[in-house]
Amino acid sequence: MLIAEIISVGTELLFGEIVDSNAAFLARELGSRGVTLHRKTVLGDNLERLTAAIHTALGRADLLILGGGLGPTDDDLTREAIAAALNETPQEDPELLAWLEGLYTARGRTMPQINRKQAWLIPSAQALPNPVGTAPGWFVTTGGKMIVALPGPPREMQRMWRDQVLPRLPLPSRALLHTTIHTQGIGESNVAELLGDLTKAANPSVATYARKTGVDVRVAASADTDAQARELLAPVLGTVRAQLGNWTWGEDTQTLAGAVSAALAGRSLGVIEAGSAGALSTLLADEAGFLDAAVTQDHRRLITLGLTPVTLHDAGLVSEQAARELAAGACEHLGADIGLAVAVQASGEGAGQAHAALHTPELQRSISLNWPGDPAQIRERAAVAALALAYRVLRPGGWDA
Ligand code: ATP
Repeated sequence: MLIAEIISVGTELLFGEIVDSNAAFLARELGSRGVTLHRKTVLGDNLERLTAAIHTALGRADLLILGGGLGPTDDDLTREAIAAALNETPQEDPELLAWLEGLYTARGRTMPQINRKQAWLIPSAQALPNPVGTAPGWFVTTGGKMIVALPGPPREMQRMWRDQVLPRLPLPSRALLHTTIHTQGIGESNVAELLGDLTKAANPSVATYARKTGVDVRVAASADTDAQARELLAPVLGTVRAQLGNWTWGEDTQTLAGAVSAALAGRSLGVIEAGSAGALSTLLADEAGFLDAAVTQDHRRLITLGLTPVTLHDAGLVSEQAARELAAGACEHLGADIGLAVAVQASGEGAGQAHAALHTPELQRSISLNWPGDPAQIRERAAVAALALAYRVLRPGGWDA
């Protein structure tokens, strides 16, 4: 098993001015190729700390990937740090220098002198050409270990990773298979309880992730061949599916809105939203069956859509009864087979309260939530809860399935 570490370099990353999306990309890439990632580190532009980190990481990992710090300025220190950690001296590479100067000449410009350090190499480094920028990367082999240095801009980093780095890596020929099961309406600790000891095994591994649409459970198996990985995965996946049974709404690339759309089975869905700024309609926008929506907080308009003045007066707009009346109104006034309504208090007094209701000719169901958060979060959670309600009622077998 190849063990890897990633070091992202840049003071702006350290201080959170930009998000380290490169490390996330690389982590996914490594995982899908059977390389075990042990650590991700973020460091500022500091030669001493970077050198020490490279030194330490090389003592633990087979492959060290550094991102950023390959620019021409004094605070671009990745090359210097690798050289210092390996006790090697950088030298200008004539070929690299000619290529770099050529880039400028081609644009009718002269290369600034400070760019010369982008033509440096150390004896154990090979240059990795950068077809979309000026910073070449380095591929270093030293004492059976590898160091890869890539530029920071994601477009450059990703292109060079695929074209230059992957072909140079001794990647295991292991097959990795995984399936992600999506759930709703159950918390992560309850999911973990249902899964019991399954989450402790390494292969297949079973891991839970809290997402906006509910808790995801990822089951992954690796083996020498695809067939062996499938054989390992199948029984565990079967158990996980059975355990999560009623809470599951889809797998892998399926979306909750897509699951609702499929469960509609040709029926049309009308939506009325009050206080959620169209969050629910946005999730449904591209789905089959989504017929029409009314997004408004205007009481007079809501009354024309089915809300009774008595409910508005006694229980208020953000109430379960109001949501139920609006769900019925979505059928009647939007001309849909099925009505879905959501009424949300996204800010101010009572923020976090939300009610969703579903109306079909045969049955009516509603749910209430009360979660604090910022207005955007509250609206989104309410929209997701409304979709989950719709899925639970409309799926084959219905509410009690
Ligand atoms: P350049 O030749 O462009 O100077 P560089 O290797 O010196 O490349 P940096 O100066 O560290 O790279 O970063 C350049 C830009 O790339 C940053 O301003 C940022 O926009 C982006 N970037 C750097 N590192 C990351 C990262 N880990 N995740 C996402 N974006 C990044």
